[in-house]
Amino acid sequence: MNISHQYKLLPTQAQKAIMNRWLDMCRAEYNYLLAERFDWWEKNRNDVNSCPLICHLPELKDNPNYYSQKRALVTLKQERPWYKDVHSQVLQDCAKRVKLAFDRFIKGDCNGNRSGKPRFKALNRYRSFTYTQITGGDITGNAINLSKVGKVKLILHRPIPDGFIAKTAIISKKSDGWYVTISLADESVPDIKIDVTPTKENSVALDLGLEKFAALSTGKFIDIPQYFRCSEDKCALLQQKVSTRKKGSRAKKLLNRKVGKLHQKIARQRKQFHFEAAGKILTNADVVFVENLKVRNMSKRAKPKQDETGKFLHNGQAAKSGLNKSIADAGWASFLDILSFKAEKAGQKVVKVDPYGTSQHCSTCLNKVPKDLSERWHSCPSCSLSIDRDTNSAILIKKLGLDVSLSIKRSTRKGREAHAVLS
Ligand SMILES: [Zn+2]
Repeated sequence: MNISHQYKLLPTQAQKAIMNRWLDMCRAEYNYLLAERFDWWEKNRNDVNSCPLICHLPELKDNPNYYSQKRALVTLKQERPWYKDVHSQVLQDCAKRVKLAFDRFIKGDCNGNRSGKPRFKALNRYRSFTYTQITGGDITGNAINLSKVGKVKLILHRPIPDGFIAKTAIISKKSDGWYVTISLADESVPDIKIDVTPTKENSVALDLGLEKFAALSTGKFIDIPQYFRCSEDKCALLQQKVSTRKKGSRAKKLLNRKVGKLHQKIARQRKQFHFEAAGKILTNADVVFVENLKVRNMSKRAKPKQDETGKFLHNGQAAKSGLNKSIADAGWASFLDILSFKAEKAGQKVVKVDPYGTSQHCSTCLNKVPKDLSERWHSCPSCSLSIDRDTNSAILIKKLGLDVSLSIKRSTRKGREAHAVLS
């Protein structure tokens, strides 16, 4: 069983200076290794069958990989002796981060989702470094012993649970100070596979929305807390103020620091709200059905529209940008992660259901009831059901999850095209 705890660090000025210097050196190393990868990629990415073999073949360079880059750190330390000050594991971790970023760009993650091209890290964009091996003995009382930095005081606001051994430590710089995230493992506790059979009584379904954070299949709603909106408004005002200050001025720097802290506060408030909402949902049900949302697809830009002459027409991107911002602010993806995490811990289950058609069908008679996004009420002409649109979707998601009604009459593209021709 693996968990992680985060504690606030209280480093001295000297320790802060060391850690800041390390971050800068790690950043330079990260950028160098990334450039090496790009260099090889640019020069050698031709397929064999499309390579023009009429020119002189240059001396082929080996493809830099994690191991070769890690080995090259030895020569780096000879050429630039100041890198000897940085702990060797911390430097090796830079090579690992480059590997992960590059692999996600070329191969994609375990689900095959590819990320964008990795970016070079600008100043203040590289904010953490990792000790890949620490032991339980490194944490004594209210201090953690970080090799080559020294004993750093920390606020141990919760004890390390019995039986857990510290494995790695990530030191990160946030807008309000330094933090350490310790990953803990207990090998004696096996990872349990949860097997709860969903029934009509022990399950509940969620429909995530923007107006109300979530609608439950029981008819209840979870609202977005007011304090959260307050902080967001404050942030927007402050951001506006920043834009009026002169570039590079002290006033701008100070204001930017303020904005950073406020963003951190908002992120924390959102996280707490997500945890509380997940807790509320899980007290009443063993199985939770949620939509299998593709948040990244939902927040894509609107497609450009052109007329016959090639002139660009109004495509509603301005409205879509606002919607995209709201989707990002709601943090659905992180909420679903938290919900799954909490459920797993308590022996409960979260099941993802394909949401296709759930907003356009009636939850009682399953007939299609087309609605615009602005229509918030569902009233069915066939069975005269009249409820909130999101509650209707949630009930339908639950039905789909329980395999009760797999016969939603989904419209196919051919059918839609035929319909369009007829009308
Ligand atoms: Zn109906």
